Amino acid sequence: MQEMNLSPLIGEEKIKETIESMGAALSQKFQGETLVAVCVLKGSFMFYSDLIRAINTDVICEYMAVSSYGNSTQSSGEIKINLDLTGSIKGRHVLLVEDIVDTGLTMNFLKNHLQNHQPQSLTTAALLLKPGALKVECTVDHVGFEISNDFVVGYGLDYQGYFRNLPYIAQVQSLS
Ligand code: 5GP
Repeated sequence: MQEMNLSPLIGEEKIKETIESMGAALSQKFQGETLVAVCVLKGSFMFYSDLIRAINTDVICEYMAVSSYGNSTQSSGEIKINLDLTGSIKGRHVLLVEDIVDTGLTMNFLKNHLQNHQPQSLTTAALLLKPGALKVECTVDHVGFEISNDFVVGYGLDYQGYFRNLPYIAQVQSLS
């Protein structure tokens, strides 16, 4: 792996606190209901597993994987589904769980895809949002942290497949 300069941005404790309060809000909203929680692989797996454990109602797990054509640090906007839902979400309460919203193109694509399956409701959650990078209007119901436009890794997020296992979020200072 090439030399990378990482500077910690959001620590483990802060992530934990934020996810607990997101989980509490979602528990209240869906009290007594069954929620289909959709994990967007690969980047969301860590956030997703912590978030669903902070939600105190019945949860059914679903997984999707999408890729956007482009280089490793910039998405092109063309999105392809690599893994789709396995069960029906028609008439269900659905929670879409994303790691990070950058241009907003992936989130909007996924929202549109899920809405086409006629859920009873669709709620979105993203751990990170880069408001300055949005290329399209994109509303996210539950956002953990708003960050600047810098590329980040850790807590599920990668650079060329590395750093997903960091327990905190770090900013990449230089890509040499
Ligand atoms: P968008 O469609 O909003 O531009 O991009 C969404 C996807 O781009 C995310 O799910 C993630 O895979 C990737 N992405 C965007 N910004 C970052 C970043 O700062 N770090 C990493 N590791 N991935 C990012």
